[in-house]
Amino acid sequence: MEKTCYKQNRRIYLDYAATTPCDLQVVEAMQPYFSKIFGNPSTLYSFGQEARRAMREARGKIAEFLGASPEEIIFTSGGTESNNTALKGVAYAGRNKGNHIITSSIEHHSVSESCKFLEKEGFKVTYLTVDEYGLVNPQDVKEAITDKTILISIMHANNEIGAIQPIKDIASIAREKEIYFHTDSVQTFAHIPVNVNDLGVDLLSMSAHKLYGPKGIGALYIKKGVKITPFMQGGDQEKRKRASTENIAGIAGFAKAVELAKEKMGNEEKKLTFLRDKLIKGILEKVEHSRLNGHPAQRLPGNVNVSIEYIEGESMVLNLDMKGIACSTGSACTSSSLEPSHVLLAIGLPHELAHSSLRFTIGRFTKEEDIDYVLEVLPEVVKKLRSMSPLYGEKEK
Ligand SMILES: *Cc1c(COP(=O)(O)O)cnc(C)c1O
Repeated sequence: MEKTCYKQNRRIYLDYAATTPCDLQVVEAMQPYFSKIFGNPSTLYSFGQEARRAMREARGKIAEFLGASPEEIIFTSGGTESNNTALKGVAYAGRNKGNHIITSSIEHHSVSESCKFLEKEGFKVTYLTVDEYGLVNPQDVKEAITDKTILISIMHANNEIGAIQPIKDIASIAREKEIYFHTDSVQTFAHIPVNVNDLGVDLLSMSAHKLYGPKGIGALYIKKGVKITPFMQGGDQEKRKRASTENIAGIAGFAKAVELAKEKMGNEEKKLTFLRDKLIKGILEKVEHSRLNGHPAQRLPGNVNVSIEYIEGESMVLNLDMKGIACSTGSACTSSSLEPSHVLLAIGLPHELAHSSLRFTIGRFTKEEDIDYVLEVLPEVVKKLRSMSPLYGEKEK
């Protein structure tokens, strides 16, 4: 009896790319900074000094992990703000040199919408296409460069299909032409090795809530010498690059999350890759008419993205939720647009397949039995939904 109760209440979180739970050690590390060490770091007295010290330590830890120096890190409110700051900051600062930006067609909205905004401001943007696996071809980057190009921004790994881009090659092309290169590292930082010198990037975005830290805190690496124009006006914080009183508790939590990642990363990568491959193999074997989206190997350790033909992604998400499984889809029928994921369309999926996509992202607290449970439940859900699907009925005739 007890066992069935447990089963019914079972909840399995497989949407780590959307956000991660805070590690309890992170919560503990943040605790002192709410009511005890609460000073404003811009003040002169000891309350402020204590806060400044905490911030300095945290910045040092994050910089070291990234291979950067502390002066090259500014704290922001998250990945979205870091991307906005990088794109708009470099664009406005470089306006006298040129007005052309190169990016990909599969970026996170915080990059692509910043680009669209800049187009309205008179900038020209090239959106590079990707191959069937979601990979950018460095040669295409090279060919898109003009004498007006001031910035190239290509994400390190894609949040939907997990495709890991050849950042090193693209960065070296940018460096050769003396064009700034930015990468959105939100899905890779503290998950796979990310070192700014090794990658050769000028700007790099991070977000704490994607790596078991708190929401609302992130950072932007800005290489020494790179000029940015802040898009927010206010105080002199963060070397005048980011006004507003610093989120000390968030910063301390971010640093703790990075410290934990440093300790766990290698093993975690192995564990997630094993679980990912088990889930992919299991789905492709157990569910007829299913296909993997993205590259089989050149992908994030925790990312599984499949299309399950003849069913809407949203019906699957809701039915899986009733069985206690949380995952996501690139289908967007409930939102105002009927357009499915721009990423899935960019890799050449027809609308039907994009609408029938399902993304499971695995993380630190996922167990092998969770994967087994999904492999038990998903085929049943698919069978039930297909039995109600007119499209599937048509096919069987
Ligand atoms: C989540 C995410 C962001 C946005 O980060 P926030 O901290 O939620 O603003 C940006 N880029 C990628 C690739 C992401 O996955």
